[in-house]
Amino acid sequence: MPEVLELSVVAELPETLVAETTSQEVVARIHALKEKLRDKVVILGHHYQRDDVVQFADRTGDSFELARYASNLHDREFIIFCGVHFMAETADVLSGESQKVILPDLKAGCSMSDMARFEQVFDAWDEISEVIDTSKVCPITYMNSSAAIKAFCGEHGGAVSTSSNNRAIFDWAFHSGFEKIFFFPDQHLGRNTAFFQLGIPLEEIVLYDQTKPLGGLTPDELKRAKVILWRGHCSVHQHFQPSHPNIMRALYPGIQVMVHPECSFEVVRQADKVGSTAFIMKTVEEAPAGSSWAIGTEHHLVNRLKHEHPDQFITTLAPYACECATMYRISPEAMLDILENLDKGIVKNQITVPEETRKWANVALTRMLEITKKAA
Ligand code: SF4
Repeated sequence: MPEVLELSVVAELPETLVAETTSQEVVARIHALKEKLRDKVVILGHHYQRDDVVQFADRTGDSFELARYASNLHDREFIIFCGVHFMAETADVLSGESQKVILPDLKAGCSMSDMARFEQVFDAWDEISEVIDTSKVCPITYMNSSAAIKAFCGEHGGAVSTSSNNRAIFDWAFHSGFEKIFFFPDQHLGRNTAFFQLGIPLEEIVLYDQTKPLGGLTPDELKRAKVILWRGHCSVHQHFQPSHPNIMRALYPGIQVMVHPECSFEVVRQADKVGSTAFIMKTVEEAPAGSSWAIGTEHHLVNRLKHEHPDQFITTLAPYACECATMYRISPEAMLDILENLDKGIVKNQITVPEETRKWANVALTRMLEITKKAA
């Protein structure tokens, strides 16, 4: 796309791709049912959720914060998780036996999580074990993965990580005697952590393409690698392009570019600041009035920051709105349907992780918590 066209599109950046309008009747019915069921129900809203859903959340946060928060609310029997499938699974793994986790729309999946299916990961592990000693390989999975992949990592001595603690988890793996890391499913977070934070040369970071024999790698490449990356990515953050930082800097002199590490290596390399959702929010909250930011992360979060900090100039890094389409499937109408059914004693869309998977996923999550606590 020619640069001049991109510049003109930036100037008319939409607030959101689709108008978020909920009828007053739906809003009133949700509020009434929330009040009626308040001793039993907690509603959680991920930061990327649309505003007309977030308005009903008892708590907003990232996936792990929300899952941990809910699991401590032992008196709430029902956790309505306004996020995507892997988040509800994590909440189920961490929640008490008497708690039930509900995803308002079962079609709210995550394309990144879907890029690493259990059978594929199992086969890949088997395949590389013919070339390298997998007892020296630590499997680590990003939080944005299925409970089955988390369980696989837990059972094979590995852990879960988030974008806030990925470096600490990688450090832990290498200091625990593992010689290599196999990281699922986000290649970008893995590469950005390994290169920018741990200083591992790119030649020792390889991409395992699950569609090819031996991941498209030679035995020598696998043997030399310190970090093996699964070929997955976030379909939202991949929209930020290497040309965007320069376009924004040309449009708004003095603007700072801040991106999430799910963005590509080439985008991250050009950013002024890189960090998790929590880091991005904290940086904006602590910035002085007059600061200006082009932020490379999900559009609803950027828009919310923009409205909450009118004394700063905040815009999205891309010349178009990068929204999480699957997260968007959670609607007020879907939430109302869940609440109306709960009011009749019917539990719809419950997410239940099988017992064995739950056990090992919990091991990987607990390991992450312990490592993060020690590293703090
Ligand atoms: S923003 Fe990306 S990683 Fe997060 S839920 Fe959406 S597709 Fe998945």
